[in-house]
Amino acid sequence: MFSPGYIKNTIKSLIPDSFLVHRLPSSAGNAVILTFDDGPDEKITPRILEQLEEYNVHAVFFVIGEKVAMFPNIFEMIVQRGHTIGNHTYSHHYKKIPSFKVYLRDIIRCQQIIEEKTGNKPILYRPPAGFISPITLLLARTQGLKTVLWSNEGGEWGVNKQDTASTIGNRLINTLQPRDIVLLHDNNEKVPFIMEMILPALKNRSIDLQHGVHAICP
Ligand SMILES: [Zn+2]
Repeated sequence: MFSPGYIKNTIKSLIPDSFLVHRLPSSAGNAVILTFDDGPDEKITPRILEQLEEYNVHAVFFVIGEKVAMFPNIFEMIVQRGHTIGNHTYSHHYKKIPSFKVYLRDIIRCQQIIEEKTGNKPILYRPPAGFISPITLLLARTQGLKTVLWSNEGGEWGVNKQDTASTIGNRLINTLQPRDIVLLHDNNEKVPFIMEMILPALKNRSIDLQHGVHAICP
């Protein structure tokens, strides 16, 4: 009997990398990517940017279009510091998938506001709540977007909501593997504390936190 996790991973492995990635390819060596969803946030994002700069780390920020409109200066800071911008839809309102027309419009609106402010359209997409289906993958692909899930996470937004920052930080330190794509949220107040723990630990392990994005963002 195959476990649901085995079946899910087997199905994912059959989808071409141009549509979906959830872990860095083997060519990425000992690289890890930190990804931040649901920003830009007025309070938390600037703190995270300082931490990333201190450790010379390049991350991916999957921004919500509506928040880009709300906090253009914070968004500008992310861009100026050379981080990669990904699309996390414009409204991020839905808990379940809306009609495909609405879903696509939300992706396109986010592409537009990012292009308006940076001159470039993102090529990476993270669906709200990580929900994917063959249709969402295809819709994203029609906009030149590759869907990026994750292989490790803080879970501070939901699955590990009850845990302290220190518990989450320790768990990440103990479970992080080369080629992981790590999900954190730059609108969550625990995250700067988690970062304080994991950045020095990963540096000690000589994990490359700067170049991993090139492996999925040619
Ligand atoms: Zn989100």
